[in-house]
Amino acid sequence: SRGEVRLSITDVDAFYGRIQALRGVSLDVCRGEIVTLLGSNGAGKSTTLKTISGLVRTSRGDIQLEGQSIKRLAAHQIARRGVVHVPEGRRILRGLSVRENLELGAFTVRDGALRGRRLAEVYALFPILHERRHQDASLLSGGQQQMLAMGRALMHGPSVMLLDEPSMGLAPKLVTEIMRIIRRLNEAGTTILLVEQNARLALRLAHYAYVIENGAIRLQGEAARLREDASVVKAYLGLA
Ligand code: ATP
Repeated sequence: SRGEVRLSITDVDAFYGRIQALRGVSLDVCRGEIVTLLGSNGAGKSTTLKTISGLVRTSRGDIQLEGQSIKRLAAHQIARRGVVHVPEGRRILRGLSVRENLELGAFTVRDGALRGRRLAEVYALFPILHERRHQDASLLSGGQQQMLAMGRALMHGPSVMLLDEPSMGLAPKLVTEIMRIIRRLNEAGTTILLVEQNARLALRLAHYAYVIENGAIRLQGEAARLREDASVVKAYLGLA
């Protein structure tokens, strides 16, 4: 039993021109969960997150937050509803300081005092960002840039975070640190949909998992069960 559904994707298709990237994808993220979406390169993981956050439009199917369709909302409206996307590749803004990057993240927050509190929370979670707050963000290491990307998303006060491969390109020690922070955010009440190529890692963190292949969900289940499933181990965890 997974509790109350917070975000649901039902029978969603997505196209890039004539290329079909998603074929009837359905998945649920329940309140308080970390759900992971696993799959190989080009399987449709990033596209799934982009359809949720409004960056890619879906023709068929629906996307609902707390039972209300968000499928036709603009990306900034979806962010205002508390669904925040941390894209692959971090997208930090060069030429701006770490602090300016964080403040730009809070464009949905009009209340200045609230922005200040959020900034303090982000600095508490990522002390290195506080230390480097006046530096140009492009001088941060890869791991620090990932922290900045997550910090910027947190400035919105998200209730749902969509994380696209937060471990990519990071040294093992930083991967552990990022995973610890994801767990902490989840324990503090944030619902998380985590896209990962590192299935072993993601299944340790997540409560529930979906496997996508060629634009379609092939498999789903409790993360603990998939970790033990020999066919999953062979197909998806063999090389991880
Ligand atoms: P990766 O781990 O490599 O990022 P992914 O599982 O996130 O892979 P997607 O990026 O969602 O996969 O891509 C799904 C399919 O859509 C792939 O066939 C990909 O080539 C195609 N695709 C993705 N973005 C575009 C685009 N902007 N234009 C055309 N095709 C695209």
